[in-house]
Amino acid sequence: MDEIKISGLKIYAYHGVYARENEQGQNFVVNAVLGCSTQRAGITDDLEASISYEEVCEIIQQEMKAQVWKLVEAVAEHISAVLFAKYPALQELSLEIAKPDAPIDADFRSVSVCIHRKRHTVYLAYGSNEGECINQIQEGIAAIDHDPFCRVKHMTKPIKSTPYGGVEQKDFYNGVIRMETIYEPLELMRFLQSVEKAQGRDRSEQAIHWGPRTLDLDILLYDDLIYDSKELTIPHPEMAKRDFVILPLAEIAPYERHPLTHKTIREMAQNPMEKHVKKN
Ligand code: ADP
Ligand code: MG
Repeated sequence: MDEIKISGLKIYAYHGVYARENEQGQNFVVNAVLGCSTQRAGITDDLEASISYEEVCEIIQQEMKAQVWKLVEAVAEHISAVLFAKYPALQELSLEIAKPDAPIDADFRSVSVCIHRKRHTVYLAYGSNEGECINQIQEGIAAIDHDPFCRVKHMTKPIKSTPYGGVEQKDFYNGVIRMETIYEPLELMRFLQSVEKAQGRDRSEQAIHWGPRTLDLDILLYDDLIYDSKELTIPHPEMAKRDFVILPLAEIAPYERHPLTHKTIREMAQNPMEKHVKKN
C-alpha cells in the first residue's frame, strides 16, 4: 500500500497522568504513516484525489489541543478515530506519539506509544423478539453508526422467523448489516454488548440461554479473519446453519467467501440446515 508520512510534528499540549503535566504542559512529537492509494492523485495531479498532509497536520494539532487525556494511548486512539471518519480513502494508519520531556527519573531521548489501526469490513447478524423489536433494532444500529470507531454501510430489512433452541417464546425479527470498523475483534464484541445492554438486554446468570432477547448482535465475518477464544469465535460457528442469517447475508455479500470452507455465501445459502424464516 502507498503511504503518506508525517514525521516530527511538534505540538505543545497538556496530556499526562501527573497534575503538573496538565498544568504546565510539554512538547509532544507525532509521527504518522497513512496507508492509502495515491495512484489516482498521481495520475490526475489533483490534491482532491489524495489526503492532504497539511490538513492532517491541522487536525492532529486541533485535536491534541481541544481535550486533555491522561494517556498518550488515549490521544492516539482518538486521533485515529477522527482521521478514519474524515477520510474514507484511509485504509491503514500508524500513529506514534512521543513525549521527549516525559517527567520520569531516567536518562532517555524520548518515550512514545505507536498504534497501528486498519479499516475492517464486518458483517453482523441482528435479532430481537422482546419489547419494541423494530425500534430496538433501529436504535441499536444507529448507535453503531454514531460510534466514532464504526460506520454502518448496509442493513437488510428485518425478516420474521420462528424461535430456535426449544425455549417457548415469541417470533424473532432478524437481519444482517455490513459495517466498517477500526475496533479489534474483542473490542468490537465489547462495544456491541454495550449496545445490546443499552437496548435492555439481560445478560445476567438468570437469563435463559437462547431465551427472549431485546437485541442480539453477533459478529459473523471480520475481514477474512479466523479467530477462536473462550469469548469469541469468528466466523460465527452457527452462521451456515441458520436461514435467517445466511439468506439476508447472501443478499448483501453473495461473493464473500467463508474463510474456513472457502464457499461463497451464495453457495452456503442454497440449502441451510435449519429453516426458521416465515413466509408471509
Ligand atoms: P447467542 O449465541 O444466541 O448469540 P449470546 O448473545 O448470549 O447468545 O452470546 C453468548 C456468548 O457468545 C457471548 O457472551 C460471546 O462471548 C460469545 N460469542 C462467541 N462468538 C461470538 C461472535 N462471533 N459474536 C458474538 N458473540 C460471540
Ligand atoms: Mg449473541
